[in-house]
This record gives sequence, C-alpha cells and structure tokens, in this order.
Amino acid sequence: MRFPRSLQSALLSASRDPHSTWIFSDTFNATLMSGSVQRAAEVSISLEEIQARVEAASAGSSRPPTLVAVSKLKPAADILTCHEDGHLDFGENYVQELAEKAAALPADIRWHFIGTLQSNKAKTLASIPNLHTVQTLTSVKTANILNDALPADRVSPLNIFIQINTSSEGTKSGLPPLTAWSDVANSGVVQLAKSIITECPKLRLQGLMTIGALRRSINASQMEQNIDFERLKETRELLHGILKSTFGESAQSRWGEDNRLLLSMGMSSDFEVALKAGSDVVRVGTGIFGERPKKTDEN
Ligand SMILES: *Cc1c(COP(=O)(O)O)cnc(C)c1O
Repeated sequence: MRFPRSLQSALLSASRDPHSTWIFSDTFNATLMSGSVQRAAEVSISLEEIQARVEAASAGSSRPPTLVAVSKLKPAADILTCHEDGHLDFGENYVQELAEKAAALPADIRWHFIGTLQSNKAKTLASIPNLHTVQTLTSVKTANILNDALPADRVSPLNIFIQINTSSEGTKSGLPPLTAWSDVANSGVVQLAKSIITECPKLRLQGLMTIGALRRSINASQMEQNIDFERLKETRELLHGILKSTFGESAQSRWGEDNRLLLSMGMSSDFEVALKAGSDVVRVGTGIFGERPKKTDEN
C-alpha cells in the first residue's frame, strides 16, 4: 500500500505526534508503520531536506547544481522512493551493484559512477545504457576502453569528470592537482584531458572531481574554507587555461558547460561549504539514506 508522498509524510508525523487530534486505528498505524512504508517516508523526508539545503546554499549561482543521491549499498527500493519524488541523479561505487540496479530500475535514471574504476571493469560499466557520467576517470587507458566499449546506439556522449587527489592521500585514487609551479603542460591531468578531447569522440570532458580529506570535510563547517576545494578550483583554472591555449578560444564548446569546466565536490558533511565555494555537483549519501553498512574501498 502506498500513499502519495506528501500525505504519507504528513500522516507519519501526525501519528508520531502525541498531541495530534487525529485518531488512527491500530490497523492503520500498523500499515503506516510497516517497515517499507516508514522507510519510504523517512528517505523521502531526508531527500526533501537535502534538496532544500542545496537550494539555499547555492542561491544566486548562475546554474543550479546537480544533487547526486549516493545510493551505494542501499536497496533499490530506496532509489525508487526518490525516483517517485522526481529525483533522477544517483551515484554508485561498485560496477556490479550498479549494473544490477540499472537493469532493475527505471530507464530515465541518470547513473553516476563515483567509485574507483579498474580498467577491467570499464567494459561492463560502458554497457549500462543509462550511465550518464563517470566521475572518477584517472587514466588514458581506461578512457580508451570506455570510448571503444560504448554502444553505437548511445544517443549522447558519456560525461567524464577526472578525479583529482587534492589531499594527496595514498588511500585515495586521483591524479595530482595542478599548482602555479607545477609542470602543467606535462601533467597527468592535462594529458588525460587532451586525450579525451582529441581521441575519445564518445566521451565528453565535463570537469573535475575530488573527495578530499575526511578530517577537513568534518571540520569544514568551522573553517568555512576547505583547502581541497581550493586546490580543485586552482587545478580547474590551470587546466582550462592550457586547453584554451592548445585548442583555441573557439574550441571551448568541446568541454564543460557554458565555457567552463564543472566541479564535483562536497558530500554529506560538507556539501554546503562546497556549494559556497562554487561546486556544480554534490554527492550526498548518508544525508539522504542514513548510515551505510561498513564497506572497504572508500574514504
Ligand atoms: C560514498 C561516497 C559519497 C557519499 O558520501 P556521504 O558522506 O555518505 O555523503 C560521495 N562521494 C564518493 C566518491 C563516495 O564514495
């Protein structure tokens, strides 16, 4: 049994409110409180809250940011709940899990792959018809595998973010950030970006992504400026500069949106700071779906 979302949320709050003048029968309460209905109402309420916070934190920015709901290790039913609320962007970290969910869930979902990408999984990933973006590309080899494996009948290119390891942690993947004194022209990120633009017609370079240090992310609200975000912005400026000088001003439509490369930065604990720093894409998991069971390869 399902109620329209807004009614369901209202009923859930009312039935929990000891001062409510509404009278609920025990059977009605039992149905309302049955695991799946209650879970759907909780996810729905959290999604709405996060959406409102994203909107508030990005007020005044030129283009509305994308909220990617990170659903890794969460059941397909949670994703359906958000989808019924009209949410379309979801992030997953594991290729197999993503492939299974994509096959079972609505085709208008825009899937973002945000996990560590091994080249031997790239083919499976590319075969998912509604894969919208890969946010974690770090090698020319994997770019070529993705480009070659994308089905010929795909209508739009696969969006790509290059992952940058702004915190230089050994446990995180990503290419080193660029700084004013680095050898920009010969850097891994510039070589990968050029290779995507010139050799991978089925890929579109959209921007740069970082995870950043967990410690800084947790302290972000106190510090209000996060060095990982600043490093990603600096890398973006330097990369954009060199792409312009390599391909010419008029070639800018070949990457990014509106003549700029986008930034994917900000997670549950720091997405508001990230948006204030100019992030275009935030990836929020725990804030929408609650704590995850323990797993291995992230953070
Ligand atoms: C898991 C994950 C997230 C979401 O993290 P939360 O703290 O749960 O919001 C975002 N980005 C990446 C790359 C992740 O692996």
